[in-house]
Order: sequence, then structure tokens, then C-alpha cells
Amino acid sequence: MSPRVLITGGAGFIGSHLAEAFLAAGYEVTILDNLSTGRFENIAHLVGQPGFRFALASIQNAIVLDRLASEADVIVHLAAAVGVQLIVERPVHTIETNIMGTEAVLQAAARYRAKVVLASTSEVYGKGVRVPFREDDDVVLGPTDKSRWAYAASKMVDEFLALAYYREKGLPVVIARLFNTVGPRQTGRYGMVVPRFVSQALRGLPITVYGDGKQSRCFCDVSDTVRALMGLARHPDAVGRVFNVGSREEITIRELAERVLAVTGSRSPIEFVPYDRAYAPGFEDMARRVPDTSRIEALLGWHPQVPLDTILARVAAWMQAQPDVPAY
Ligand code: UDP
Repeated sequence: MSPRVLITGGAGFIGSHLAEAFLAAGYEVTILDNLSTGRFENIAHLVGQPGFRFALASIQNAIVLDRLASEADVIVHLAAAVGVQLIVERPVHTIETNIMGTEAVLQAAARYRAKVVLASTSEVYGKGVRVPFREDDDVVLGPTDKSRWAYAASKMVDEFLALAYYREKGLPVVIARLFNTVGPRQTGRYGMVVPRFVSQALRGLPITVYGDGKQSRCFCDVSDTVRALMGLARHPDAVGRVFNVGSREEITIRELAERVLAVTGSRSPIEFVPYDRAYAPGFEDMARRVPDTSRIEALLGWHPQVPLDTILARVAAWMQAQPDVPAY
């Protein structure tokens, strides 16, 4: 019998790519998504393929979740409130979706002893200044009156809860801390910088660099992230552990803007937008964010393979293939 995977949030950017990869590897794939930020267009091409199912429901629909968990060998839990903009604008939704949703998934998985791969985030490193970030580093979050940190805190609770299910109930769980992941199908609607810059470049609009643009990130292609998630889902020794998943190719946001202009051949100007105007007053950004990936390298021999220019070219090609270049 084929192995069966349930992907919560599978109609989203990462989930839709993951679903394709699991299908190609011979899995039966079920996606559970309420299409709140996910999009049916991301998975429309999978509908009708043998071994593929799509359930349009929330992870907080206990009846649907129970049924699907009972039919899964592994659950990759991606459903979450994502995107800094969304998090700042809708903190109640963020906290409730992330904490109650994960609790529901773990409870359902525990009833049927399905393995859970929890997608966490590099946000949990908060304002840590010792880069690269290692899985066992201390974390430094900002105060509770800054909504941004609610996301990190909610994901930390998810991690604690998953590890508690592992230790106390023997549930096999794996935690993947995803760093900035980019590629085709990612939307810029919730703040993500790469689709925003590429869209601005293709439309000839100013590239909106927040702050002074000296903050840096490492951008990992979604195909590399998907390979890591599949490897973690399959490897027995990943269970009970936390893994960073991300690229080590660090770039400042200002340089990113220039690379986007070069790759797209755009003449858009670069516009520096103060943080207070981009987000809420008092918004705190992370200066640098680089993963230490030695743990996943040691277990799986995993390395990101797609360089940034290739990623940007792919995102631009995907956007140009849309009926309209999306405007963010
Ligand atoms: N950013 C920017 N212009 C935009 C959107 C984002 O300069 O239009 C910056 C943002 O302030 C951050 C970086 O790009 O420093 C990455 O932002 P994103 O929201 O993609 O991910 P984050 O790493 O902050 O979660």
C-alpha cells in the first residue's frame, strides 16, 4: 500500500509544491486547507490525479480533521497564519490559528499515532544576534505590546507542545524551522519581500525597500525546502528533534532589490520606506537571519542547490505567465 500523507495548509505556497513532490514519490496525498491564504489555483492541476484528494475545511473542524488523521501515516502541518503584514494586522487570528490549530492537529495525530512534521519558523530566534542561528540557541523576543512577537511566541508554543507530545505520549514528531522560503506561487499580499520586489520590477513601480535596506536574509528555493521536509518526514532519526531549514546565501535587502532589477531588466527606482510607514509605529525588524544547517546536513546530507539568481528568474517567469502580473 502507498504511504499516505496529509498536508494541512497544502493549498499554500510551500504546501502545493510539497504535495507535488509527495505524489511524484508515490504517496497518496490529502490536502486540508480552508483557502484563507492558500489558493485553489495552486493545486487545481493536482485535482483528478490518482492518489490526490483535497478537503476544503479548517484544521479546527474537528470531525474532518479526525477522519483525515485516521487515514494518514504522516501529517505535515503547514496550516498557519503567515506573513509579517498579516500578523501585525490580525494578531488575534494569528495567535488562535497557530496555537489552537496545532493543538488540534497533535491531538488528532495522537489518536491514530500518525507522525507529525511541524513547520515552524526562523521567527522563533527573534532578535538573536549571534549568527548563524543554531537549533539549541537561546531566543530573544521583543515585548508583548509589539504584535510581531506574537507570531514567534505562538510558534514556540507549537514547538513546545509538539515536543511534549513526543516526550509524554510517544507521538513521533519532527520540527522544521523554516527560514525565508521563496519561489513560484508565493504571494506578496502578506508582506513577503521577493514576490513584492519582482512584481514591482515587472510593473515598473518603485521597489519599496523598508528601513535602510541593510538588514539581511537568506532566501531558500521552495524545491530545496520541499526536499528537506520530505527527508525529515521519512528519516526515523529525525523524530523528537528540531531542524533549521534554509539557505546560507546571505544578502541585504538593498542588494536584493538590485539583483531583482538586474534579473528582470527593470528600470524601476529603489524607494526607501521608513518602517513606521511600512508597518505599525514601533515595528521591530530583524537585522540578520542566517541558519546553521549542520544538523540537517549531518542527518540527510541536505544542502540547498538553487542559487538566488535562478530563484529570482523563476519567480519572474512565473509572474509573467500569470494573466496579470500581481500587484501588491
Ligand atoms: N521588506 C522590504 N520591502 C517589502 C517587504 C519586505 O524591504 O516590500 C523587508 C522586510 O522589512 C524584511 C525583509 O524584507 O527586512 C524580509 O521581509 P519578509 O516579510 O519577506 O520576511 P521576514 O524575514 O521579515 O519574515
